[in-house]
Amino acid sequence: MSWIALTAAFLILARLATELWLARLNRRYVLAHADTVPEALKGVVDAATHARSVEYTLARSRLRRFEDIYRTVILLLVLFSGVLPWALGSSVSWLGDSAWAMGAFLFAVGLALALPGLPVDWYEQYRLEERFGFNTTTPGTWWIDRLKGLGLSLLLGYPLLVLVLKFVEWTGSWWWLWTWGAVLAFQLLMAVLAPVLILPLFNRFTPLPEGSLRQRLLKLAERTRFRAGSIQVMDGSKRSRHSNAFFTGFGGFRKIVLFDTLIQQLTEPELEAVLAHEIGHFKRKHIPKLLAFSAISSLAGFYLIALLADQDGFYRAFGFEPGSIAPALLLFGLLSGAVTFWLSPLTHWWSRRYEYQADAFAAGVMNEAHSLIGALRKLNEKNLSNLTPHPLYSGFYYSHPTMLERERALAGTAASVGS
Ligand SMILES: [Zn+2]
Repeated sequence: MSWIALTAAFLILARLATELWLARLNRRYVLAHADTVPEALKGVVDAATHARSVEYTLARSRLRRFEDIYRTVILLLVLFSGVLPWALGSSVSWLGDSAWAMGAFLFAVGLALALPGLPVDWYEQYRLEERFGFNTTTPGTWWIDRLKGLGLSLLLGYPLLVLVLKFVEWTGSWWWLWTWGAVLAFQLLMAVLAPVLILPLFNRFTPLPEGSLRQRLLKLAERTRFRAGSIQVMDGSKRSRHSNAFFTGFGGFRKIVLFDTLIQQLTEPELEAVLAHEIGHFKRKHIPKLLAFSAISSLAGFYLIALLADQDGFYRAFGFEPGSIAPALLLFGLLSGAVTFWLSPLTHWWSRRYEYQADAFAAGVMNEAHSLIGALRKLNEKNLSNLTPHPLYSGFYYSHPTMLERERALAGTAASVGS
């Protein structure tokens, strides 16, 4: 084995070891706190709900442990068994090496690699989520969702792959810059078009009916100078009892979306507070900042692929002959997770900061914090969220602070807004 192959194998195994270690740490921590409801939530969360959330957390942890091992075994097999160079050889002798053919090869490999995940997804939905009463997806919907996803990636992903390969032909050693520009333009276009063209393929959106809730939310939008085309209700209950709210689109196309499950679970002031939190993300410019961050990281990514594609050793380490860009793209796709994993605590820490900022914004425009706290408590209870993750575990994986952390921060904000 070359040092490149050894480094790759080391990064992949070190990731798995870290995942398993963090999961074990978390399970023990959760079990140690399983008998008593956390002090700050006594009288808020009852013992039965707490016990059920512990059970749910442990069941999810077991599934995740299996997934982590399963994914790693498949990745190592795919990388080091020689199946990829063999598949590329067959593809080239059959279809040739035009951009269209290489794009088809990459697409087919991506599809083949997604297949082993299907039984795990199925198990998660119909065993785990079902057991805890969250699943509402019919098997028909489950399959149709996957077929629609496949159709979309054929329609959008395949042409994008071909375009990337064409850029390599057209622009030579600067291909990575052109490709980055094209991918960025595609992402921006999708951000505008997805809410209009793609989301409606999966869910039904209906305008929030006239009434006190609509009045209240429109007033909030006006008060915060948040221009929204409309407030829509999404039939989230079609798939799950978990709930959410978000806004999509730009400018006049912007719409606020509430899950029907959220409307069922929360009171009107609580819904207003949740929307205020979402508007907070907007007002604090979190979305353009995240877009800029993702643009910079993808630029770094494409530049890195270009560097790797210049190294014959990189190809040979995984059994490929140097020459075509396709293996470099493929290997980068397979290996990037083993690198970005180590950066995820940083991105999650950043994301949690944004959540605190959005919470503080919500408390500010509501002039009180108890509606948001009430909403968070209910959502935690309904979603059986883990109240006591190990601090290292949540620090590594959580994109949102835990409920207790958010309450503590909101109590501070409430003191400063004087309520
Ligand atoms: Zn948020």
